[in-house]
Amino acid sequence: MNITLHGAAGDVTGSAYLVETGDSCVLVDFGMFQGSQVLERKNTIPDGLNPTRLDAVALTHAHLDHSGRLPLLVKHGYRGPIYATDATMDMADLILRDSARIQESDARRANRKLHEAGRDGSKRLVPLYDLDDVEQTLALMEDAPYQEPFSIAPGVSIRLVDSGHMLGSASIEMTVEEDGQRKVVVFSGDLGPRGAAWLRDAETFQYADLVFLESTYGDRDHRPLKETLDEGGAIVVDAVKRQGKILVPAFAIGRTQQLLYHLAAMFHEGVVEKFPVFVDSPMAIEATTIYAQHPELYDDEAIELAREGRLKMDLSTVKAARTVEQSKAINDVEGICMVIASSGMCNGGRILHHLRRNLSRPETSVIIVGYQSQGSLGRRLVDGAKEVYIFGDRIPVRASIHTLGGFSAHAGQSDLLRWFDVVAQSRPRVALTYGEDRGRNALTGIIRKRYRLDVQTPMQGDVIQL
Ligand SMILES: [Zn+2]
Repeated sequence: MNITLHGAAGDVTGSAYLVETGDSCVLVDFGMFQGSQVLERKNTIPDGLNPTRLDAVALTHAHLDHSGRLPLLVKHGYRGPIYATDATMDMADLILRDSARIQESDARRANRKLHEAGRDGSKRLVPLYDLDDVEQTLALMEDAPYQEPFSIAPGVSIRLVDSGHMLGSASIEMTVEEDGQRKVVVFSGDLGPRGAAWLRDAETFQYADLVFLESTYGDRDHRPLKETLDEGGAIVVDAVKRQGKILVPAFAIGRTQQLLYHLAAMFHEGVVEKFPVFVDSPMAIEATTIYAQHPELYDDEAIELAREGRLKMDLSTVKAARTVEQSKAINDVEGICMVIASSGMCNGGRILHHLRRNLSRPETSVIIVGYQSQGSLGRRLVDGAKEVYIFGDRIPVRASIHTLGGFSAHAGQSDLLRWFDVVAQSRPRVALTYGEDRGRNALTGIIRKRYRLDVQTPMQGDVIQL
């Protein structure tokens, strides 16, 4: 069998593995490249991948860097099944529709600029795919259970287990039978850290001939969650004293729900009195609803809290701001309240309106809970900018800005190795993916030394034969 890496090899995004045997042709993930224009230009159907020849697709989870090119596949003629867990199907519905909307509006804006510049003759920007392509893609999705192996193509079966990274996320064990031989390939997908809110810890595998292991944080551990939560508690206590707004830029899916979970605990334990919390993002509200619809996927602690009805009680002051009017009404709220809004890096979305209005007030607190890329507004705030520009207005920064690390959705080095240690006993070959050089090289060194295994760090387009 040949496995071609069509993404996320040497890059963090664009996850795609093409598995070809004499009888079958299947794809694991078909994610979008994200982060820069150079990367985004790679969002194509690569040479050597014929969508009409594919038998099946298996999807590890709904994040765009794993699912984002699927509508492109369908646009180019793929009509077979796309297997995913039911929570992943729900999340993909949300994420892919949003992706199509963003691409359509980006194309409209770019073409308007061409028009304004009097360059109507130039090549117009066509969105990668539109809402119709997404609807067709969603219609091809088939619900795959956790744990039970099932056949997806002649000689190819898969088994999904929880990877603890987002609701519905999976690692995939693929068993391939060809010429009387049986080989097992494990795709870790994105692995979550142990102990994340809501989610179960990643499950492990006993046996593999080849393991594709993610290595995003292969070179380091995250700060312990308890330290993060203690510091977050202290920031909130201080903000309550100052009676200003607490603004939290956060990704709509995953991070927002994590924050709500920890906030519930803080209210329950009486760290602070309950105060109003606004989830100011239609996407975050929908994602929170999907969380509520899948209690069967929670870890034991969350199951217990949900069963007792405690989460509902502790989060009774949470309000959803769906419409623009509801969002604007938050401006009139006096005293302490928290606003959780996207985007997570403050480079768009409703959080910008709240920042523009409140950054100049000394009683405001801003809590940055996620990675801020170079050049983002979030990064400028973290770096201590005295003034920033939002929608063309110069805003002096008098609010207190806090950075709260430690909420990653990815396993750190120790958790990656703890996961790998189980399957390592079967002496597989190893290929490290999803990592940039730092993470991959550090992990390569440790795995070679500790287990004396063959470790590869493939690049995009490389083929691994088994
Ligand atoms: Zn992911």
